Amino acid sequence: MTEYDIVVIGGGPAGLAAAVSAKRNGVDSILVLERDRELGGILNQCIHNGFGLHTFQEELTGPEYAQRFVERLKEEAITYRLNTMALRVSKEKEVTALNGEDGILEVRAKALILAMGCRERARGALRIPGYRPAGVYSAGTAQRLVNIEGRLPGRKAVILGSGDIGLIMARRMTLEGAKVQAVVELMPYSGGLRRNIVQCLDDFQIPLKLSHTVVRVEGKKRVEGVVIAQVDESRRPIPGTEEHYECDTLLLSCGLIPENELSKGMGIELSPVTAGPLVNERLETSRGGVFACGNVLHVHDLVDFVSEEAALAGKYAAQYVKGSRRQGASDEKESGVPLIAGEGVRYTVPSSICPKRMEGRQTVRFRVGAVYRDCCVSVYLNGRRILRKKRPIVTPGEMEEISLKKEELAAFPDLSGITVKIEEA
Ligand SMILES: Cc1cc2nc3c(=O)[nH]c(=O)nc-3n(C[C@H](O)[C@H](O)[C@H](O)COP(=O)(O)OP(=O)(O)OC[C@H]3O[C@@H](n4cnc5c(N)ncnc54)[C@H](O)[C@@H]3O)c2cc1C
Repeated sequence: MTEYDIVVIGGGPAGLAAAVSAKRNGVDSILVLERDRELGGILNQCIHNGFGLHTFQEELTGPEYAQRFVERLKEEAITYRLNTMALRVSKEKEVTALNGEDGILEVRAKALILAMGCRERARGALRIPGYRPAGVYSAGTAQRLVNIEGRLPGRKAVILGSGDIGLIMARRMTLEGAKVQAVVELMPYSGGLRRNIVQCLDDFQIPLKLSHTVVRVEGKKRVEGVVIAQVDESRRPIPGTEEHYECDTLLLSCGLIPENELSKGMGIELSPVTAGPLVNERLETSRGGVFACGNVLHVHDLVDFVSEEAALAGKYAAQYVKGSRRQGASDEKESGVPLIAGEGVRYTVPSSICPKRMEGRQTVRFRVGAVYRDCCVSVYLNGRRILRKKRPIVTPGEMEEISLKKEELAAFPDLSGITVKIEEA
């Protein structure tokens, strides 16, 4: 069994930034495992621009953004293995992986960084009635077909789900000559970024049907059409509101789920809301020395925040390795104060903070459960409000963040809970 100080699983933007940061924080022995034939993760198929505005103050395409981190990885001479799928991780941080050259590969790590990204919710999980004809794709699969394989999945499409991938594929299919009949969204609001609704739907006059869903897929061999219907407040189709759309393709963009099989297999505690690991302020999971970042932790809207979060995971993993060398690999962790997702807030990352261990400032990221206008994001320590940030609008499609100061938390020596909630302005 080969030994490394840090093994990073996943060579997407999160894995790349984490590995580079770990190296720059003093750890030399690092291995990145990537199951795909190249580094860069999902960004390789995102050929639209809009990446890197925060990190590089430039508008880059996905592959351009990824390339900058691939170059950093190479400059730092970090070892990586492509076409290598991590299959299992033991509680002792032993990774079993598989590739065509070595067959089974076994590596032991002092610290692990989970950066496996996320996957799309498939048709089976959506329970759409109808036959199983060809022409039903997840939006990400269609994106790969169009942007990497050079194949157009169909000529006339309906898209179910208005998350960012669905919105971006509506524009992409249109630019490639297909007719996108409508984007259909179950919720009364879109799950995507505002800028994507404007640039991908409004600019191309593609209708967005909010509070609607697909109730029937027609066609036996190939999709021939879909029937959509309006839904009531409980998201049940309202009889009599059905509309028929002729199409040969149905794209599904109905949510992303963190790739959590390896995390589950290691017995890591997962959040029931995000399905990603619960982490403390050091992005360390319930298993000491195992860190998580990027979409495997919670689904991000902007890759810049993925890179920022992953750089921290790399730094903390490096500190763990250096500290555990001195202390004899202790997996003991100080307990943290729980972060409570209060009214309107679905979850927070991290889910606990140790005030003694935290740095001067701690960013807390979260998503809300509905659209709130003219509201405030408030933070309470032991029930006393310490922060109130006015927001004209917050929506589930856009990640929110607040920053907590160490001295604010230190002022509460008996701190038992930090609550983040949405309140009226
Ligand atoms: C369609 C789409 C459009 C987007 N548009 C924008 C945009 O305009 N601007 C923006 O800033 N952000 C955008 N994003 C968001 C951004 O691309 C993601 O947040 C980012 O790619 C997440 O990085 P990640 O490394 O966590 O995951 P990924 O990029 O998914 O990388 C995870 C990597 O892990 C590998 N992996 C998984 N499991 C294993 C395993 N068991 N063994 C080995 N390797 C494994 C995968 O092959 C993959 O390469 C978009 C995302 C999508 C999907």
